[in-house]
Amino acid sequence: MKVFKFGGASVNTVDRIQNVKQILSLYANEKLVVIISAMGKTTNALEKVAEAFYAGNKDEALQLFTVIKNQHLNTAKYLLVTHYNACYEQLNNFFTEVEWLLHDKPVREYDYYYDQIVCVGELLSTCIVSYFLNEEGINNKWIDVRDIIRTDDNFRDANIDWNVTEGKVKSMIDGLWSTNNIILTQGFIGSTDENESTTLGREGSDYTAAVFANLLNAESQTIWKDVEGVMSADPKHFPDAQLMPELSFDEVIEMAYYGAQVIHPKTIKPLQNKGIPLHVKCFLDPSLAGTIISKKQAKHLPPVVIIKEKQALIHLHSQDFSFVGEKPMSELYKMLGELNIKPNLIQTGAISLQLCLDDRAEKIEQLAAAASLIFDVQVEKNLSLLTIRHFNNELLAKMTNDKQIILKQQTPETVQVLYK
Ligand code: ASP
Ligand code: MG
Repeated sequence: MKVFKFGGASVNTVDRIQNVKQILSLYANEKLVVIISAMGKTTNALEKVAEAFYAGNKDEALQLFTVIKNQHLNTAKYLLVTHYNACYEQLNNFFTEVEWLLHDKPVREYDYYYDQIVCVGELLSTCIVSYFLNEEGINNKWIDVRDIIRTDDNFRDANIDWNVTEGKVKSMIDGLWSTNNIILTQGFIGSTDENESTTLGREGSDYTAAVFANLLNAESQTIWKDVEGVMSADPKHFPDAQLMPELSFDEVIEMAYYGAQVIHPKTIKPLQNKGIPLHVKCFLDPSLAGTIISKKQAKHLPPVVIIKEKQALIHLHSQDFSFVGEKPMSELYKMLGELNIKPNLIQTGAISLQLCLDDRAEKIEQLAAAASLIFDVQVEKNLSLLTIRHFNNELLAKMTNDKQIILKQQTPETVQVLYK
């Protein structure tokens, strides 16, 4: 049994959905769990609906939602003939659920409404793709993943209840294989024990796929993307970016930590824990080998380049020239924990400390306010953080020559440079 995940770009047009069918037809004799994201930029569009609704702009919210509705109906019309009516009916049920909610007045927290609205993106896309595949003879069973993935009510970043979810996977999926080769469902969404919808954090479908792979002891997971595989840098900015055919779980976790947008960071643990290899393959050309990520340590990796823009550096200086010892340090870490802030880099000195973080205004203000009780605080903005793993000095020089370097940290494996 294998788990496949198709992202939003792989289903954003009629042609692309037909392409998914082509790919699945290459695996006709396999048992597959297929996880599909919302189409294209639907999740972003639904976020706008949620924002308008919460701001009290009901008409705008309904209008924005109508655009999304029509896009999906048009796609269904193009793709379906015999199954159109049944699909239309199911789509309509999802539309109605959202529209009812949009007619209410918000009385709960924003994140709750966000999840009730945004979750519909994956329900719509999988509904259409499932009917289309069935019409084309690729038989599959559609499942509402909210009946399986149980989470807490930490809306927008919900945590999976593994015990309940495992029980549901067993009771709902195991019995289906005798009559189905493909089980088709959603990523990114789940539900609480009170049947409220939840989401797992943006780009969370990779993670859902890994949860299924883990609980079903899959032989592998494949993420189908519009790139050749995992690249050593963002090819849009670095023409020298190279495909990395093999990577270890450790390397991918490190890359995700430093900000590479390869794979949702939570994806690796469920796979690593059971030694399930992860393939990253190109849906535009399934004959390409792509990247395989596994327990095996890959040798001879090229330099891996990651750039995080919009960084802020917080300078903390002891107020009376006393050393920054254990006590202020532990206070500072407590603040970071409480504010849920993960610094991208920390540099300590005798009487000062510097923290580099993503420039999110409200977080920086909160941290600056809290830290000002024990430190003098200064904030510097508009910086970029370059990380190179497996670096060489020539590349480092080439990438930083014309930059004003603010801070540099280096280990034998990794160099990080914060610059203007
Ligand atoms: N549709 C969701 C998003 O765009 C989840 C995903 O694609 O992984 O964030
Ligand atoms: Mg996506």
